[in-house]
Parts: sequence; C-alpha cells; structure tokens
Amino acid sequence: MGIPLGPAERLRTLEGREPTIATLCSHSSLQIFHGARVEGFKTIGISVGPPQRFYDAFPKARPDAFLQVPKAREIANLTRQLQDQSAILVPHGSFVEYVGPDRFMDLEVPVFGNRAVIGWESDREKERQWLEDHGKVRMPKRYTDPSEVDGPVIVKYYGAKGGKGFFLAKNREALEGFTPTGPHVIQEYVLGTRYYVHFFYSPLRTDGYRVGSGSLELLGMDRRDEANIDELYKLGAQEELMKAGLRPTFVVTGNVPVVLRESLLPQIFDVGARIVESSIDLFGGMVGPFCVEGIMTEELEFKVFEISTRIVAGTNLFVSGSPYSDLVAPQLSMGRRIAQEIRQAQREDRLAEVIS
Ligand code: AMP
Repeated sequence: MGIPLGPAERLRTLEGREPTIATLCSHSSLQIFHGARVEGFKTIGISVGPPQRFYDAFPKARPDAFLQVPKAREIANLTRQLQDQSAILVPHGSFVEYVGPDRFMDLEVPVFGNRAVIGWESDREKERQWLEDHGKVRMPKRYTDPSEVDGPVIVKYYGAKGGKGFFLAKNREALEGFTPTGPHVIQEYVLGTRYYVHFFYSPLRTDGYRVGSGSLELLGMDRRDEANIDELYKLGAQEELMKAGLRPTFVVTGNVPVVLRESLLPQIFDVGARIVESSIDLFGGMVGPFCVEGIMTEELEFKVFEISTRIVAGTNLFVSGSPYSDLVAPQLSMGRRIAQEIRQAQREDRLAEVIS
C-alpha cells in the first residue's frame, strides 16, 4: 500500500461530481441512508458478507447499491470502487471499531468529520486531557491508589467491552478484597441519572447557538438499556451478589428516549460548547455528530464519563425527529443532518471543512 492520501488528494475524488453517501451496514446505517436519500444523495451500503435481508424490509432506508467485503477491516480493498463513485464515508460507532482505528486513519476515501479526533477519543488519558484539563468539563474523580477512596467507586478495565468485569464498591472497605486482573482505573461511582446527549457541531452555519465560527445543535437525548446492571437489583443487594461471584455488566441492548429538565439545558450546552472549543484548539475541531455521556447528580451537576465522537445508536430513536430536533427543523434525524451539512458544504464549495 502507498502513502495515505492527504486531505487535498482525497478531496480531489469529489471535484465537480455529485457525492455518494456510504457507510458500513450496521449500527445506525438505516438512519444514515434514509437521511441521505431525503437530501437527494445516492447511497452505498458496505456489507460484511452478503447484505442482510432486513434492508429489503425498509424501502426508504435501503441503500441504492451494496459493496461487499469479507471482513470490515478489509474495507481498504474497496478504495477504488468508492472513489469511482465519489463516495463520502460516514463513520458510526461500529464503523471505527470494526475497521480498526489505524486502518480508519489511513483510508484513502473522504470521511465525513475530522478523523484526527480518533487519537483523542480512543485513549482514556488523552480524552481526559481534552475534556477535563483543557475543556474544564466536570468528570468523575479518579483515584490513583485504593487508600484514597472516599466514596463509592467503579473499577473499569481498559478495553473491557460492555463493562465486562467492572467492579463496584460502595466504599474503601468494600474495595479491600479486590485484586485487579489487568490494567484498570478506579473512578468515583457517580450517583444520579444518566443522559446521553446528541449534539451536532456545524462549522458552516452562522446562526443558532454560536460556538467557534460555527453553530452547536442539540438534536436528541437517550438513555441506554444496559444488561445486566439495569435489572440486577431484583436479585438483592449488589455487594452480596458480588460476593457470590455475580458481576455487573454494562452491555448495551437498546435505547430509550429521555428529555432533561429545561432549566438544565444551559449547563448541557455549556458542556457541549467547551468540548467543541477545546477540540478546535487541540486538533482543528470536531465536525458533525458527537454524544456526551454523563450523569446528572442530585446537586444537578452533570459529570461526563465518556464521549463518542460520531453518530451514536441512540439517535436511531429519532428518525422522524426528537423533542429537541423538532424545534430546529421538522423531520430532522441525525442521519439527515449529516447529509444536510455535506449538501451545504458542496453548494458553498467548502467540503474541505467538513471532510477529512
Ligand atoms: P463506559 O465503559 O465508561 O462507557 O461505562 C459503561 C457504563 O458504566 C456506563 O454506560 C454507565 O452506566 C456506567 N458508568 C461508567 N462510568 C460511571 C461512573 N463514573 N459512575 C457511574 N456509572 C458509570
């Protein structure tokens, strides 16, 4: 393989041509294809193995064409075909995970958003530098040693999918018998209610809630259903269960819509704005969808435990709009909003500002 194309070369595949919107057939692909179609784009579904039959069941979201690869990490083999179709790849949560961050960075096909964000999101240390040190966003406390623990904690293993093996302890004493089985962090267990906030940052729009030289939109909110933690309480006290060897897991199985007390919106927008502003300072800025994942405490302080810098699956709840996006424009899904941004950039000859 040659040297990866720089952004300017990648952009050249789109010059004077109508872009096609492509994504991996998974996660939020139905919504991405549907939104692109509503905005008048042709769509390509990249399927691992033969396309899933369920796309036939959704005629308004079925991609116009499928390309097939045996494994997601072989997506680079489709480079020529995607370039020939002047494709713009829309990354979603599973896209980067399945393709692999390094291979994703090297893709020679234009990608919606700033791919440099990957380096800041995939490493928990750098993520903290970005959000807490630079963005002054409130995050759960971290303990370097168990002796410092002064409240309930969650012990997270690095790279543990679905929180497998995470350990919960209500205080320092309860942590005493704990022996870690790998690299981990001990984090304050934040008591409160979880909110997953769906933002969209447009560097192109100059109206609305201004941040940087663009505009920050709030398009929806969800809460994740997580197995087995959500229902574990039915078996009794958590500590007793852990003693019996039953460990909580946080495997996402679905999403439910939520709205936040209106008086908390200023805080939420402030958090979103700080994250965008510090992304601009640190790596040229985030573009498009991102999700701030946090816990609202009884003191009404929002503490952020994670950020996803792409379209999250919780937005699938809002294909025809959410209680927030309805106040921005009718029938506005996140998938459609992505397509609108690409359309505006194309019309204003500013694609270089929204793709990388
Ligand atoms: P994470 O792997 O960081 O995305 O965490 C997985 C799940 O663990 C989240 O969706 C929350 O339900 C829960 N969680 C993570 N961090 C905390 C925290 N500091 N306090 C309370 N719950 C948390």
